[in-house]
Amino acid sequence: MSYSYDPGNVFARILRGEIPNRTVLETEHTLAFHDIGPQAPIHVLVIPKGPYVNFDHFATEASAEEITDFTRAAGEVCRMTGAAPGGGGGGYRAISNTGEAGVQEVPHYHLHILGGRILGRMLP
Ligand code: ADP
Repeated sequence: MSYSYDPGNVFARILRGEIPNRTVLETEHTLAFHDIGPQAPIHVLVIPKGPYVNFDHFATEASAEEITDFTRAAGEVCRMTGAAPGGGGGGYRAISNTGEAGVQEVPHYHLHILGGRILGRMLP
């Protein structure tokens, strides 16, 4: 699958500093910030700085360095927010809505980190 990245998407604009964000963590290849419409007491989005449309695109075309940086940053966000097991939050859910069936709205890969409450079952 070849992906075409839309540089006008809202997260690209955040990365360019055109739209403000509430940053939680920034590393060389990754930015994490609070979701503007939180679905739980903790709702942080973790995005790579590179132009990847979705998880499939990131997993196939990002460098090992970018993937490591992203994964470590996401883990750090879970600990920083207290969501990680042992941090008082009791755990979290990490979700990446992908494509049409996944109801992905913003075409820049992002991982939702949700926590701070019992989230309920996703699947029956
Ligand atoms: P869905 O809206 O179905 O969850 P996505 O997985 O693409 O689709 O999620 C996009 C997320 O981006 C939403 O949770 C939305 O609240 C969030 N969002 C949109 N614009 C901004 C913004 N400017 N700053 C922070 N979060 C944003």
